[in-house]
Amino acid sequence: MHVVTRPTPPFSSRSGRLTVHQVPMWQDNLVWLLVDNETKEAAAVDGPEAGPALDYCVATGLHLTTVINTHTHGDHVGINADLGRRGQLDDTRVIGSRRAMADVPGIDEPVDDGDVVTFGGVEGRVMLTEGHLDGHVSYVFEDLLFCGDTLFAAGCGYLFDGPPSKMHDSLTRLAALDPDTQVCCAHEYTQDNLRFAWSIDPDNPALADRIKRAWAIRAEGGCTVPSTIADERATNPFLRHHDPALRSRVQAAFPDRELATAADIFAATRALKDHKAYRSITDDQLPT
Ligand SMILES: [Zn+2]
Repeated sequence: MHVVTRPTPPFSSRSGRLTVHQVPMWQDNLVWLLVDNETKEAAAVDGPEAGPALDYCVATGLHLTTVINTHTHGDHVGINADLGRRGQLDDTRVIGSRRAMADVPGIDEPVDDGDVVTFGGVEGRVMLTEGHLDGHVSYVFEDLLFCGDTLFAAGCGYLFDGPPSKMHDSLTRLAALDPDTQVCCAHEYTQDNLRFAWSIDPDNPALADRIKRAWAIRAEGGCTVPSTIADERATNPFLRHHDPALRSRVQAAFPDRELATAADIFAATRALKDHKAYRSITDDQLPT
């Protein structure tokens, strides 16, 4: 069963030309349907499979015409393969990373950093955001960011391909987007991410406030995504390497290493999270 039982209700892009619907799949994947309000065409951003997206479209009068892929993990391109098995991939417009196109089934529009893709008459900007996986791309349509497994609510993706400096660079560029940008990431991992954040940033009042909000939402089976770039800048430990208190806590965990640069702090922060010691922090030790 999915951890989210009450998905985020549909919401609009800044101009109102696009609506975003959230379709939870598998245990914690968040699949986004970007909908052209005029034609009712829908673009699925990633997905482990096609069935729930197709069912959702039938139930709501939408037509799934497009798949937009961020990266090539199975729970993101599974939807492409599934559409192929159903004989529907040839009729589907597939947008994905040029650098990983051999692993994006049915790709029609290979894209790279700085490219523009158009959906529903709205131009979206492509950003190369590597670090989780080589060739990972993110998409910005107006005030909507689809960032796959790069930036998560209060966290970031595992560094499968890395290196840390690439992920740090990707996150720094995402953090520079407009503060109102809605962060549509691909998993509901927020409570785990916030538990870690609290372990190294407990003097941050914005973080305490976010933890309270997130626990209240999740207690009802709700979804904490999307967040905003402003939320992430204020509370995401992987974007807060400039903060002196956080820096000194991370440095204290690695007494034998001099963490001189922002990228060093990022790499050490990611290593600390991977160690998972923070998971011993219980809910009653959090500001919930
Ligand atoms: Zn992934």
